[in-house]
Amino acid sequence: MEVPKDFKTALKNASNIIITTHKSPDGDAIGSSLALYNMLIQKGFNASVIVPDKFPDFISWMSNANSIVVQEDDENKAKELVDKADIIFCLDFNALHRIDTLGDWVGEKAEYKVMIDHHQSPDDFADWMISDTGKSSTCEMIYDFFALLDWKNDITPEIGECIYCGIMTDTGSFRFPSTTSETHDIIADLIRRGVDNSGVHQKVNDSNTISRIQILGKCLNHMEFVQEAHTTIFSVALDDFENFNLKKGDTEGIVNYGLSIGEVLVSVMFKEDVDKVKISFRSKGEFNVNEFARKYFNGGGHKNAAGGISTESLDDTINTFKKHIKNEMDSFLAD
Ligand code: 5GP
Ligand code: MN
Repeated sequence: MEVPKDFKTALKNASNIIITTHKSPDGDAIGSSLALYNMLIQKGFNASVIVPDKFPDFISWMSNANSIVVQEDDENKAKELVDKADIIFCLDFNALHRIDTLGDWVGEKAEYKVMIDHHQSPDDFADWMISDTGKSSTCEMIYDFFALLDWKNDITPEIGECIYCGIMTDTGSFRFPSTTSETHDIIADLIRRGVDNSGVHQKVNDSNTISRIQILGKCLNHMEFVQEAHTTIFSVALDDFENFNLKKGDTEGIVNYGLSIGEVLVSVMFKEDVDKVKISFRSKGEFNVNEFARKYFNGGGHKNAAGGISTESLDDTINTFKKHIKNEMDSFLAD
């Protein structure tokens, strides 16, 4: 891959660079954004990270996480930064609606946009689109991006830990099929550059709270198993948020427990919100939850991990889901 000439020109003349990433930011979204942010400020650029909404505590230890502008907390600041931006990086998402109203602002701007992303079916809105569904994570792509710009030797342990965190969280600690020998090469290089790999695992995984463990217990206890569809169902209702004193991100990862059951091929988490239900889909093997989420729940993502949304009630959403998964699993198993 070559660096486009117009990007080089834009970077040379840039006074204000912004980096945005998807709503409900995860380890890869925040990791890639902060890796790039820390690299840019180290190189003397004026840069900011803007996210649509809050991110969970278990990724807030990354270097300069406290400088991230959260749009829902400071609408004016976010707008002002977008207005004066002359380069816009869009990381870990590939359609502007994934960043809500922030996407409307970004979409209206003519300034240079770079997309770096590994999700399927990208929209064509960026001047430089780096899209590769074969990559484990956007963080892996950020590492490649630094290599392409000849910035690899400027990766400090702090920047490396951001990259490590995103690769680790998006690959389920290097176990999903998206993990390749290149992924491990990058990880090895990051460790050689001073990343405290074990420390990152500890910071991400050993930061549970009482409420997270308690809601996990409730979800596991009430897990539903739809045998003919090889599917497990978890749900969190609005009143659980109050009763368990839940914070954003507290239910993350629960859906994966379903897949640890041998005969389960699909696992789903339904999270009730005031006016919608947010859905997380996971699968193992060939069942494609990206296609399923797109077809029935206005969502998308990857083959084995996707998300979607429903405006039906929680109960109706789950019933609708069961109908569709039974049909789709029937055809899948018949093939
Ligand atoms: P999660 O279930 O962890 O929220 O999301 C799993 C994957 O699906 C992530 O890669 C995420 O970016 C993607 N995803 C989650 N929700 C949506 C959605 O509503 N629309 C689309 N297109 N992708 C989503
Ligand atoms: Mn990602």
